[in-house]
Amino acid sequence: MTLVPLGKKGDNARRAFLPVTREDMKARGWEELDILIVTGDAYVDHAAFGPILIARFLEGRGYKVGVVAQPSWQSPEDIARMGKPRLFVGISAGNLDSMLNKLTAQKKVRGKDQYSPAGALDMRPNRSSIVYANLARQAFPGTPIVLGGIEASLRRIAHYDYWSDQVRRSILLDAKADLLVFGMGERPAWEIAKRLDAGEHVSKLTDIRGTAHPKKNRRAWEPLLADASKYTTDGKLLVLPSYDDVRTDKQAFAKMSRAFQYETNPHNGRPLLQVHGDEAVYMNQPALPLSEEEMDALYDLPFTRRPHPTYSDVIPAFETVKHSIVTMRGCFGGCTFCSITEHEGRVIQSRSENSVLREVRALRRMDGFSGVITDVGGPTANMYKMACKDEKTESACRRLSCVHPGICENLVTDHDPLISLLKSVRKEPGIKKVFVASGVRYDLAERSPEFVRELAQHHTGGQLSVAPEHSQDEVLAKMKKPGIQSYERFAQAFCQASDEAGKEQYLVPYFITGHPGSTLSDTVELALYLKRNGMRPRQVQDFIPTPMAVATTMYYTGIDPLSMEPVYSAKELREKRMMKALIFYWDAEHHDLAREALMKLGRRDLIGRTPNCLVPPESAKDRLMAADRAHRAGTLGTPAGRPRRDRSPRR
Ligand code: SF4
Repeated sequence: MTLVPLGKKGDNARRAFLPVTREDMKARGWEELDILIVTGDAYVDHAAFGPILIARFLEGRGYKVGVVAQPSWQSPEDIARMGKPRLFVGISAGNLDSMLNKLTAQKKVRGKDQYSPAGALDMRPNRSSIVYANLARQAFPGTPIVLGGIEASLRRIAHYDYWSDQVRRSILLDAKADLLVFGMGERPAWEIAKRLDAGEHVSKLTDIRGTAHPKKNRRAWEPLLADASKYTTDGKLLVLPSYDDVRTDKQAFAKMSRAFQYETNPHNGRPLLQVHGDEAVYMNQPALPLSEEEMDALYDLPFTRRPHPTYSDVIPAFETVKHSIVTMRGCFGGCTFCSITEHEGRVIQSRSENSVLREVRALRRMDGFSGVITDVGGPTANMYKMACKDEKTESACRRLSCVHPGICENLVTDHDPLISLLKSVRKEPGIKKVFVASGVRYDLAERSPEFVRELAQHHTGGQLSVAPEHSQDEVLAKMKKPGIQSYERFAQAFCQASDEAGKEQYLVPYFITGHPGSTLSDTVELALYLKRNGMRPRQVQDFIPTPMAVATTMYYTGIDPLSMEPVYSAKELREKRMMKALIFYWDAEHHDLAREALMKLGRRDLIGRTPNCLVPPESAKDRLMAADRAHRAGTLGTPAGRPRRDRSPRR
């Protein structure tokens, strides 16, 4: 971050932000910080930026907190610019894993870093958590280093790293940090601060929920094995297969992945231990979810809702969220390609209607707000205030998903709180339009015709994005997604509701290619389904094996960890490209590859000009175009004139 000196007006503007320089500290009368937060994202003072949310939360508990955003990583000077903090340095790579942020599914550099000014790509190092931790150790010897954020959270045990094609150690050990906060960090970060402030040494902080700590030698972890079990549900501690085992044995990796999944319920999950050579990582139980009052208090913190005034360039991710409102966190879906459940937890934590309305009024006071709220939602908008029927049942539950296979009979799927919230937001003075742009879980939505009507009538801007992901039952089962019939019922209800509202509106369905369990033949069936139903997707996501997702275990090991059965994954780039080409059956640019796929499968019956065919036969013009494309690809790189179809990565 370039720190531009500001005039008097600018000085006033930056006083509303947490200090980023010594001068800012002096302006507040601070000699030293209690806590320094280092983040790989630009400093945007908005609750959607996780490290800043934690910084504001700790400030709200009375600590002097400073922020160093996107420091130079050539030397420790930039991180050290505000001096040594009294309690600890909190380090986060930012809102995304730094490797996922930088590279696509094809391991190519993305066009933009959404969380950097002007989308600049050179604002953070690869594996930022490790690099920043090294810098902090050099800058502040002896000061506790606490990792947090999604990169640390999802790399807390041995994990498969797609970008290096390796099984890596826990990031806690690679970063040589003192503690790692996983999941949502408010409770653990506050307890760490309180106990360090009370004079406890960081090495004694071994029992805080939502944290992991290193055991640095055998003496520290071997005695724990007496009270541990390997893969059974008895014992107070679960010992995962060791790093050495999972690095060399894919069965062991799959067992680790499975065992880990069953310990993520904060009410009955056990602490975990994983040995890495002579060292080990000890993970306490997940932090307890926040109550509604605690969620409200979080969103009442004094966010300015602006990027730090020293930035002159637009920060793309801020543009996406600046007029949106988060109503909830967590997800009980447990889709295997997504890690939201592992990171945010399966218990939905929602804000009260009043809290959301206070934020609507804050939005109204923002410069440039035109009365349009671009999103009211969260990971899944219509999980707002949904919960298990009672706490006792939820506390005892060991299911991995409340909605797969089939919606659990104990899940209360009432949409009334969300309908009431949306009505109240619409009624606020100065509000012209309220969109729901977050994901909508259609198997839940189809249970509430009133919600679908409200969505169609008031909260859709002509197009509603939904994610059926595939059409084939076997593939959807591997994803832990509902059957395509559920999507079809929702689509019918949505179209009918749109007609009744007198609106021409469309569903934009998203699909994933290359997900484990999905073969080239499955993709042909998906393409045929799309053609039969007149669907021409313009965006398709290539499956990306992200750290700790169940589908990543399938991809790496070839084993479904939940059933321990073999599972196929496409790994060759050409096969993945053929899958994508089949989905774009309607686009002449993809016909050559789609034809190649069909011939490979012996499906010449699908090449032709009849309505049942997917692609036309090759023509002389096609041959010329293919030769031209090959020439261009060889000499000029990617054929020009086509817009990029990259889609932002899923969390
Ligand atoms: S009992 Fe059903 S609704 Fe309750 S937590 Fe378990 S899966 Fe979810």
